[in-house]
Amino acid sequence: MAKEKNISWDYSPAPENTSHVKVKERYELYIDGKFVKPESAKYFDTVSPSTGKKLASIAYGNEKDVDKAVKAARNAYVNIWSKMSGAERGKYIYRIARLMQERARELSVIESMDSGKAIRESRDVDVPLACNHFFYYAGWADKLEYAFPNRKVESLGVAGQIIPWNFPILMAAWKIAPALATGNTIVIKPAETTPLTAMKLAEIIHDSGLPAGVVNVVTGYGDTGAAIVNHNDVDKIAFTGSTGVGKIIQKAIAGTKKKATLELGGKSANIILEDAPLDQAVEGIINGIFFNQGHVCCAGSRLLVQESVADKVIRKLKRRMETLVVGDPLDKNTDVGAINSKEQLDIIKKYVSIGLEEGATMHQISCNIPKNGYFFAPTIFTDVAQSSTIVKEEIFGPVLTVQTFRTVDEAIQKANNSEYGLAAGVWTDKGSRIFNLTTKLNAGVIWANTYNKFDPASPFGGYKESGFGREGGLHGLNAYVKLR
Ligand code: ADP
Repeated sequence: MAKEKNISWDYSPAPENTSHVKVKERYELYIDGKFVKPESAKYFDTVSPSTGKKLASIAYGNEKDVDKAVKAARNAYVNIWSKMSGAERGKYIYRIARLMQERARELSVIESMDSGKAIRESRDVDVPLACNHFFYYAGWADKLEYAFPNRKVESLGVAGQIIPWNFPILMAAWKIAPALATGNTIVIKPAETTPLTAMKLAEIIHDSGLPAGVVNVVTGYGDTGAAIVNHNDVDKIAFTGSTGVGKIIQKAIAGTKKKATLELGGKSANIILEDAPLDQAVEGIINGIFFNQGHVCCAGSRLLVQESVADKVIRKLKRRMETLVVGDPLDKNTDVGAINSKEQLDIIKKYVSIGLEEGATMHQISCNIPKNGYFFAPTIFTDVAQSSTIVKEEIFGPVLTVQTFRTVDEAIQKANNSEYGLAAGVWTDKGSRIFNLTTKLNAGVIWANTYNKFDPASPFGGYKESGFGREGGLHGLNAYVKLR
């Protein structure tokens, strides 16, 4: 098919004001209620992926720092947090939620600077959802007996939490809020490329007056994460990240007392049936894979479209893709921001060349990609097979594969033919078809006639190599308690 003419308007630049944002030159570790220098005396840079410029120096925590943080967390657990009533714990969590709301603009701008995601996403999705998570779990803190009727609810102790770079503040909220509500104390490590909002959250937690040691933030690389996983006084590991590291963690804690929840990769199918409202479905496809640069574990990265409407959907999709604005994450018009790091950009490029080598047909939008920083044009691949590498493996970028199917059974079979099972989308006019598909798809989250919608009250998590355990909702409490 000939390349469609660029049909987008040119918007004038609308950059978000950054003058209200305070980014320090250097961030220390947050241990036992204090900002302390790392034992290693080493620091690493966090850079803006949209400019490649350094934003700040970040403390590189090692095993000794992790040990200090775990000791502080244990001490706070034994002496303060596990003894406090749920109602009192709830007050602190509400206070954190309100302080986050007050600083929402600053948090969203910093999130976009550090991660590369469009300000529209961080401002309208990530930060409000992160605040809502704290509000939601604050409400549960004094009602655990109603969450688990006729059971005695006990906290686990010290939770080690390791989070990725795709939703830095939101993942921190998903991890911290339920752990605090259930009476656990925390050592959390943000990803090495996106530590800034976690450090801002540490400042907020400090300002909230939360007792020292209840939440400790240790920044660093994979070895810092491994030190948390391997520490023998940690009771629970909550990890979100790649399936590869998830497997390493599972092996490391096998045979120990540690409980774990792992939220790993995905290769989720977005299924469009012929009776679907096609224009809405196209919006859902765009939202599912291109917003957030495809840096979403549950991204709808495999489009399955019924053969009878495939040409029409692909035509509409290409037209809509042309209107996507790729560029400065801090511009309010931007739909697709920067890829989080050079490493991730190289991974995306590698998969695209594999796709081409394996004979797939590529279509990329004709936008101007900024010269500096790490950017990638929204891309779709047609003429792919179930066995194609780009259909099987997670790319974690704005790259969509398109396959067709004739019958609903074929769609289910293709969707389930994956090592992953995190999410799926179903687009149809018929409620009966939604029920049929949602009961047969092996995915932890299934959206009907929408995609990538989140709510603190809804559990999230995967099947198969996408991990186990649920975060969010009542289920999210379960991951942090012992029931007797
Ligand atoms: P991604 O592909 O999203 O970067 P990773 O699994 O590499 O996912 O990283 C997710 C988080 O896990 C990051 O905070 C990273 O530093 C941490 N991490 C990486 N390797 C290990 C490890 N061996 N043990 C514990 N944490 C790790």
